[in-house]
Amino acid sequence: MRKTKNVIFELSRPGRVGYSLPKSDVPKTDFKAKLPEHLDRKQPAELPEISELQLMRHYTNLSQDNFGVENGFYPLGSCTMKYNPKINEVTACLDGFANIHPYQPVETVQGALQLMHELQEDLAVITGMDGVSLQPAAGAHGEWTGLMMVRAYHEKNGDLQRTKVFVPDSAHGTNPSSAHIAGFDVVSIPSTAEGLVDLEALRNAVDDQTAALMLTNPNTLGLFERDIVQIAEIIHGAGGLLYYDGANLNAILSKTTPGTMGFDIVHLNLHKTFSTPHGGGGPGAGPVGVRAHLREFLPIPRVEKTEEGYVLNSDHPASIGPVKGYYGNFGVLVRAYTYIRTMGPVGLRKVSESAVLHANYLRKLLENDFDTPYPVICKHEFVLSGNRQKKGGVRTLDMAKRLLDYGYYAPTVYFPLIVEEALMIEPTETESKETLDDFADALIAIAREAAETPETVTQAPHHTSVRRLDEVRAARVIKVKY
Ligand SMILES: *Cc1c(COP(=O)(O)O)cnc(C)c1O
Repeated sequence: MRKTKNVIFELSRPGRVGYSLPKSDVPKTDFKAKLPEHLDRKQPAELPEISELQLMRHYTNLSQDNFGVENGFYPLGSCTMKYNPKINEVTACLDGFANIHPYQPVETVQGALQLMHELQEDLAVITGMDGVSLQPAAGAHGEWTGLMMVRAYHEKNGDLQRTKVFVPDSAHGTNPSSAHIAGFDVVSIPSTAEGLVDLEALRNAVDDQTAALMLTNPNTLGLFERDIVQIAEIIHGAGGLLYYDGANLNAILSKTTPGTMGFDIVHLNLHKTFSTPHGGGGPGAGPVGVRAHLREFLPIPRVEKTEEGYVLNSDHPASIGPVKGYYGNFGVLVRAYTYIRTMGPVGLRKVSESAVLHANYLRKLLENDFDTPYPVICKHEFVLSGNRQKKGGVRTLDMAKRLLDYGYYAPTVYFPLIVEEALMIEPTETESKETLDDFADALIAIAREAAETPETVTQAPHHTSVRRLDEVRAARVIKVKY
């Protein structure tokens, strides 16, 4: 196995150099900048001394200790780790996009504003909404922004008693968190045995304190909430608003829209559905869209089109105000815009069709070897349970680690919370049939190992550069620097 030192200082030897600069042609002078005494260095800085080749290998090796969608299959459910086309990077690096400043006069950034305005309009069509703000930095931030608009709407109507936000028990954890941070009381709605919102429970829960229902459709089990029209009637009938968590929009692109289903507010995760790089804490974008009755509350400044060109308009007195410094994560917006324009409406429809086909193909390949709590046609993702393997002492966590040995990133595990030993698998539309077949073979091989040689799985991973970590210790003894 390759021997690597992960810390560059350990490679350092006095006198080694990794650069050769041309001889300085600036004449030497005695000039010395005056620094405060305590900042004036007495000893040279202890920088690593290392050759160019060693440095090259160091960073290349580090990059290979990581796993990304460009190394291999990354079926992390709900996260939509699809391939990010490189054309997106080309446009995001264009000088007029990459090297502009937020304080530049608007006349000098008309192209950037035009892109934002057109992206707003495209997203409004894709979601069936009437107005869009690109400001929020991620999905969770979009949720909070949307809920602040829910609040503003009920306050404007004098409905101050509307304090309850309903969230199904299959929801992503950000939903109840955002509702709580926006000042609402969170009320959980149970799912039926089929994995859908329990209509009876919802009917019994709504009252004149209902502010909103947050719903993901298809939900995090990958199942389409087929009663969505009735759900919308129940919520609207009680005077509440319907909030769409757009993380799974991938599954319905160009097929239907949240607006058609009766939603009032939507957030999107451009970094999931619209192919911009994410994971590892990279930047995201969580635009929000609203129907006409909520448009006045959208954040400011807004990108608007006038006779004189594009402007940033903050003259919207009912707005909830700015929710982020400046105008959004612009680089992510350029990538998403590029993706939407290269695909077009027909391409986006193919995205959702292929995402759903791939998920169902993989689900069928795996259904005999794993428990399938919801054995029905799914949308773009599906959830298995590792309960059968757990009886033999192998947990879902172990199988997730073992997958790394086979060269795959693990699916999302232990989520949604309502499925025991959950494995949530989202293949995305960008993978080939061969990849799906090979991945299914690997998971089936792991199921066999779990039955025959369980310690192979419980001790995994065996072939990664870092073996299994002591996760309890890692959480308790946090060490974030060398
Ligand atoms: C990813 C996700 C979110 C949160 O979005 P971020 O962009 O990670 O903040 C919310 N809901 C669901 C269903 C998700 O998958």
